[in-house]
Amino acid sequence: MRLREIYSKLENCPKVSFEVFPPKETTDYSTLITELENLKKFNPSFISLTYGAGGKNNNSPELIKLISQNGFSVMPHFTCICSTKEFVFDHIRSLENSGIENILALRGDVPDDKSLCCNDFKFANELVNFIKSNSNLSVGVAGYPEGHIEAKDLKTDILNLKKKIDAGAECIFTQLFFDNNRFFSYLEQVRHSGIDVPVVAGIMPILSKNQINRMTKLANITIPKELNEKIEKYQHNPKDLQKFGIEFGIKQCSELVQSQVSGLHFFTLNKSESSYKILENIL
Ligand code: FAD
Repeated sequence: MRLREIYSKLENCPKVSFEVFPPKETTDYSTLITELENLKKFNPSFISLTYGAGGKNNNSPELIKLISQNGFSVMPHFTCICSTKEFVFDHIRSLENSGIENILALRGDVPDDKSLCCNDFKFANELVNFIKSNSNLSVGVAGYPEGHIEAKDLKTDILNLKKKIDAGAECIFTQLFFDNNRFFSYLEQVRHSGIDVPVVAGIMPILSKNQINRMTKLANITIPKELNEKIEKYQHNPKDLQKFGIEFGIKQCSELVQSQVSGLHFFTLNKSESSYKILENIL
């Protein structure tokens, strides 16, 4: 089902999706598939599969096919900063030929070694435009409730977000956030800018202090003071921290569901347990 249909279908419960990354340095995907199987009962709209995140870890046609064969719809991510138009053309053609309907179109982080960048795509709106002109894929894009780290301010970032929607993107998937008020305020500003596509909330279950610190520093995400104190308190006891993370996730997601959020997109880090326990309590 295409993104537009997924998020326009009227249902009592929110649409749920799970993000995973291709396991590094292995072609044994059995652990990942088992984790995904655990989440099947929540009837995910799709599994999204990262591309090139943290280096060269691209999603492969084999992994996309395997996840599909296990009964899931797949939304592969794609980053364009280091790609030529020819490569993107072939890539999207091959995705369509394998039955993929949706793609998350990203610029990707600018690599330290700038010589790796191609000049064919500078920003994600150019990629969205190219995909819409050359395929029938339904396109999602990234949004940043606290502003993208390179953006001058949130207002400018939302103006740039609008360029992606004007180029044909049908849905926005947000960066993770821990303060719902920031998401609500973002949503208001996004709507005010004239963007009317669904905005799906990015949720990252808390698993470890290091992981949260790394992510939040990289992307400039606020950890509310009270949350930070709890993370500090449980930092040396992974089980307690995970349990607390689940309780926090239940509260965060319940409030989002009450606000009639379009969807919840879980950054699972390839682990199902916390997402499972959060969803079990709110659906
Ligand atoms: P853009 O939308 O191009 O924005 C990048 C910056 O440029 C912003 O500051 C924006 O304000 C500005 N800008 C945008 N358009 C213009 C324009 N036309 N003119 C001037 N300025 C402009 N990374 C990966 O490597 N792999 C993944 O699989 C991945 N998945 C992600 C999934 C989600 C849900 C999210 C939120 C992020 C993901 N990322 C991933 C991270 C993403 O690649 C980085 O945040 C990257 O730095 C920006 O990508 P973008 O598509 O948002 O870029």
